[in-house]
Amino acid sequence: MSRRPGPHRMELPREVIIGDGILDRVGELYGRLGLEGPALVITGPRTYRIAGGEVCSYLSEAGVGVSHIVVEKPTIGEVRKVASLGRELGVRASVGVGGGSKIDVAKMAARELGIPMISIPTAASHDGIASPFASIKGLNRPYSVKAQAPLGILVDMDIIVDSPARLMASGCGDVIAKFTAVRDWRLAHRRNNEYYGDYAASLALMSAKLMVRNARRIGSGDREGLRALMEALISCGVAMSIAGSSRPCSGSEHLFSHALDVVRPGGALHGEQCGVGAIMMARLHGLSWRRIRSVLATVGAPVDADGISATPDQVVRALVMAPSIRPGRYTILNEARLDERKALELARSTGVLS
Ligand code: ZN
Repeated sequence: MSRRPGPHRMELPREVIIGDGILDRVGELYGRLGLEGPALVITGPRTYRIAGGEVCSYLSEAGVGVSHIVVEKPTIGEVRKVASLGRELGVRASVGVGGGSKIDVAKMAARELGIPMISIPTAASHDGIASPFASIKGLNRPYSVKAQAPLGILVDMDIIVDSPARLMASGCGDVIAKFTAVRDWRLAHRRNNEYYGDYAASLALMSAKLMVRNARRIGSGDREGLRALMEALISCGVAMSIAGSSRPCSGSEHLFSHALDVVRPGGALHGEQCGVGAIMMARLHGLSWRRIRSVLATVGAPVDADGISATPDQVVRALVMAPSIRPGRYTILNEARLDERKALELARSTGVLS
């Protein structure tokens, strides 16, 4: 007789607004979410000028008491600084305005304070804008940790359209990674009877397909294409909320990216590395790696080691190290058992190394 599964908890965003020139709706969103009392806006030096400052003014116009803090890097030190300021001010919500890392800090600080969080992304660079997970440095874990799902998400496409093309291409790399991530999740389910949710997996795959269909438009910076990319990234975040883990969105290709961050910190963007990882992991899974490579090229994302500023030695070391980055996460890498020779062969056969 099979054991009955325990209860499964899903924590989802309550409202997502996406549109052109809608930053001024932040005040009404705050009210509709039932938030009362002061807000703390967490932003970066650049994103304060792009949107953070305006968000503060709009909230204040709506009668919300508002303070802001500018953070530099997504470190645990910054999270503690934000949380202690929030505690001092007695804030009732945290509002993250930025490209991703500021949102991660806002999410993590909100969790520490036990208050809701609103996510206002200024770029379409990765799926953390809507997910319950955050990438925080200084926790001795090179992968993302559980924080909390944003209660509200507001996306002003006027801001996204003006963001650097490289960030959008990176967002595409993070989305295309779902093809291999979902395969890894199914594999872990088959081999280890790990929990697998078809709904969350389908949502992640649908997001990846939506991005692929819009690749040309995204590559040319077309507004509708970028909107599709943004919606795909949000859906990926929701898929993680539904799964209760990052499984539908993060598999062997993410382990490669995290390992590369250990081998060679700060060389390229998260989504860029995941995209290149997805090319190689697709080959291990018997998926069409050429198709993944061609979609990445279409959107202007890197497809080889040079594009992610990694030497051949670093790529090989990252591939060999990847399965040990997160031992509980079973992926195709556990079966491929790459040694240096096999890793080099995989990178060469997919054009990641010449
Ligand atoms: Zn990712």
